[in-house]
Amino acid sequence: MDKLNPAAWLAQREQEATRRRLLPLERLPDGRLRLAREGKPPLELLDFSSNDYLGLSRHPQVVAAAAAALADYGVGAGAARLMSGNLPPHRRLEELLAVWKGYPAALLFGSGYLANIGIIPALVGRADVIFSDRLNHASIYDGCRLAGARLVRFRHNDPNHLEELLKERRGQGEALIVAESIYSMDGDRAPLADLVELKERFGCRLLVDEAHATGLFGANGSGVVEEEGLSGRVDLVMGTLGKALGAYGAYLVAGQEMIDFILNRARSFIFATALPPAVAAAATAAVELVQAEPGLRQELWEKAAFFKARLRAAGIGNELGPSQIIPLLVGESGPALELAAALQEAGIFAAPVRPPTVPQGAARLRLSVCRHLGHDDLARAAILIGAAFEKIRAKNA
Ligand SMILES: *Cc1c(COP(=O)(O)O)cnc(C)c1O
Repeated sequence: MDKLNPAAWLAQREQEATRRRLLPLERLPDGRLRLAREGKPPLELLDFSSNDYLGLSRHPQVVAAAAAALADYGVGAGAARLMSGNLPPHRRLEELLAVWKGYPAALLFGSGYLANIGIIPALVGRADVIFSDRLNHASIYDGCRLAGARLVRFRHNDPNHLEELLKERRGQGEALIVAESIYSMDGDRAPLADLVELKERFGCRLLVDEAHATGLFGANGSGVVEEEGLSGRVDLVMGTLGKALGAYGAYLVAGQEMIDFILNRARSFIFATALPPAVAAAATAAVELVQAEPGLRQELWEKAAFFKARLRAAGIGNELGPSQIIPLLVGESGPALELAAALQEAGIFAAPVRPPTVPQGAARLRLSVCRHLGHDDLARAAILIGAAFEKIRAKNA
């Protein structure tokens, strides 16, 4: 098929049940979504698709911090950080992030995507090698592609496989190991201590992406690197401000020299406008809240455990994972779409995740639990999900 024929390309995707579409949604304050429909009243849906795990995007203190910064600094930063865009809210947030994560220094990026496509090519090039967990996020793979380094993919969360590959293919150049701490589609955790041991033994650098862990794990809520006592031993830790922190943008923490190096090397940092100052102020307030109120994440963990128990009681025997992200593996894209559509009719919104976001044959419903969902809603949703899942499975067996 002619790949440059958009109509034919879209028709093919339609047939494979992998075509993507934007939905006319509104997010309501209590964990509900309003979906506009043509010629029909809007649907109200319980939202199991958001990454706003702590509900901070609407927290009064976060909103007030953004509003105050908006009044002080206006909307846009007006320039890249290295030009005239380096404003007090950026510097304050970087200082806070460095202390929180237990590193000497921090650097903000426009988004997690921009961070990964900037950091990785800054660290390795054509003569070097990257060892990447197979299930790493698309932004990591795009960073690897831009770097032009040899890419070696190890089996998901398998340090023995990584060790074998390191022995065979470490080479003489720079070597970078990249992993996520909590995987975005399975909700499982990387064996970080093993990765640290291997990177030390084989003289590599280790970059850990804490997109889905930042704000949630560890005594201070800064992530899994903190929880496992590995702050400082992982060379570079990045994460987004757009998920549990409820804002936008991303951070990298590392040693001071490394941060200075990345600031001079990462093209997605150098050649991009600085984060809007109000967004940096909002993220600052969000980090302060996470530090001051561990109850926020305790409430999330209690609700995630409650929801998983109810899913089990509703007959779901699948592996539900150890985090706030719950994968309901379906297999093929078609049934995953069917399941999502059936649940939507029942008042539940959960994103069907299909290839190429996940491997072929691993299409799923990704359920994420957020703190603002009530126990009644979670209990009701578990029953509906159990019934719909059983039906789809029976039909496609
Ligand atoms: C979401 C995500 C990103 C991208 O972060 P954004 O701030 O949304 O661009 C990067 N890595 C992982 C693992 C993610 O889940």
